[in-house]
Amino acid sequence: MRGVPSGVDEADRLDREQAKHVLRRALSMMQPYRRNLRISIALIATYTSCILAGPYLVRWAIDSSITPAAEALRAGEAVPTDAVRILNTAIALYVVIAIVHYIAQRTAIVTLARVGESFLRDLRLRVFAHLQRLSMPYYDREKAGVIVSRMTSDVDAMQELVQMGLLHFVSAIMLLFIALIWLTFVSWQLMLVCAIAIPFVVIASIKFQRDSNRAYLTVRDRIGNTLSHLQEGIAGVRVIQAYGRQDLEAQRFASGNQELYVAHMESVKVQAWYIPVIEFAGYFTTAIALGVGGWMVTEDMLTIGAVAFFVLTLSNLFEPIQQLSQLFNQLQSSGAALQKLFQLLDTDIDVNERPGAIDLPKHSTIEVEDVMFRYSPDGETVLDGVQLTIAPGERLALVGPTGAGKSTLAKLVARLYDPVGGTIRMGGVDLRDATLESLRREIVVVPQEGFLFHGTVRDNVRLARPEATDSEVLAALESLGVRERFEAFSEGLDTEVNERGSRLSAGEKQLVSLARAALVDPSVLVLDEATSSLDPGTEALVERAMERLMEGRTVIVIAHRLSTSERAHRVGVVTEGTLLELGTHDELVASGGHYAALYATWVGGLGR
Ligand code: ADP
Repeated sequence: MRGVPSGVDEADRLDREQAKHVLRRALSMMQPYRRNLRISIALIATYTSCILAGPYLVRWAIDSSITPAAEALRAGEAVPTDAVRILNTAIALYVVIAIVHYIAQRTAIVTLARVGESFLRDLRLRVFAHLQRLSMPYYDREKAGVIVSRMTSDVDAMQELVQMGLLHFVSAIMLLFIALIWLTFVSWQLMLVCAIAIPFVVIASIKFQRDSNRAYLTVRDRIGNTLSHLQEGIAGVRVIQAYGRQDLEAQRFASGNQELYVAHMESVKVQAWYIPVIEFAGYFTTAIALGVGGWMVTEDMLTIGAVAFFVLTLSNLFEPIQQLSQLFNQLQSSGAALQKLFQLLDTDIDVNERPGAIDLPKHSTIEVEDVMFRYSPDGETVLDGVQLTIAPGERLALVGPTGAGKSTLAKLVARLYDPVGGTIRMGGVDLRDATLESLRREIVVVPQEGFLFHGTVRDNVRLARPEATDSEVLAALESLGVRERFEAFSEGLDTEVNERGSRLSAGEKQLVSLARAALVDPSVLVLDEATSSLDPGTEALVERAMERLMEGRTVIVIAHRLSTSERAHRVGVVTEGTLLELGTHDELVASGGHYAALYATWVGGLGR
């Protein structure tokens, strides 16, 4: 499989213990809807009883009204008034039952769906909120496709169940249970004879269970493949068209698509033999009930009404068996999906706030002490023995080859990750002991490319501090000298940037990013300088804005241009995870080390 993972990676089935655990937890999440859940079950019990009350009324009408009336007529007597009364009552009751059934079923569908949909709504919210709180290490471990599939396919897996499946499931179980007791009660002998079909039904259901499980998993897997292909095809459509590979991509899609078709057909075939087999068992049992029941009537062991009751009830009984088998799969996959979502909810937040955390002091010294870091426990050591002190208001440029560990060091200083060894302090407070609120207020990271969210320019700046007033947003833009640039837009700050910010130029996006930082007004800025150059007009504006933003703050800038490091107070050269050189630009050039060589190449390149 290529591209985005489908998310069909972990076990799609639960064992008994897991199932119990998931069920218990799901029920506890349904606590707020307990009342509606009870009402739904009562309503389902009511309309299920109506289904069985119908045949019972028929039995009563036949035995207590129609048979005595027929016998009286045959004997040349008048029809007894009792018989007429009973028949009328039975008909009236039948109508009442129909009405009760209608109301109970209709209300049950809505009430139970309300419980289920509320549960899913809460679950989606919890998962999203947790995803937003999970820290960077989680996003390094998990692939975006899998995370998204938690929200889409795993939540979807429960959707059908929640809407009608659960209702059918509960009503089928009740129907079977009540019917078996009732039939046994009316005639255990006839019930025993009819039970001959049970082993066949059970064997067929077990086989169906296995086959359909396999077919279901294959379908899910292939849907995952097709989706990832689709996603890649759309994300990469520019490249595909640039190389004129549309037809080839379509052909590649076609083969996966064909496999999906085959998988779907397989699952249909499994149903195609099972459903008629159960129907057949239904006919067969009814025939037996009719034959044996008829004989029992002649032997005076059973009334005609009781036989009618059997025949009518049995015809209602085989559909729930079918439904149960089919729903069993849905239930299992929903359980597996829930399990995955619960696991996600249980994922610890790596970068967390300790109890008793304190606020970081403003404008204070940053000390990086013997820091060691790796992204995963068994991964490579990315930083080792990094030792560094940055004075308040100092501007430090980090330079070095790609992959050396500059961004990693910057991310550690901003506590997007915690160091594996050593400590990072600000004003003597270990970052791990600081409140997250003060951390995000005092240290702000400006990434290379700021992300713009759906909304206006103003909304996007305000993202950094949602409570900021309009005039504070304006002041932040003003402080960077970029207010006019945005006010010149046709709708000024109310201009919609669309989701990916494609209505703003790269430079303008950066300005929004810088304005966000200015709005927070932190004491420490961690900047990742853009590598690509912007159009000359904007570039000057961005540089000036950056310069203004840096004023009066401690700055760590990952410098991709030596002009930036030249202007910094000190320069740190990072290579292979260590801080190789540290000093002022002039000192480092004079020392004739690594930086001096880099600088010489650069100056040579510029022809200075
Ligand atoms: P630089 O900023 O100097 O280019 P980085 O700090 O980005 O270097 O990367 C240092 C090393 O850490 C590289 O080998 C890179 O592949 C690895 N690395 C960076 N980010 C991650 C991540 N999120 N997960 C795993 N490894 C990473």
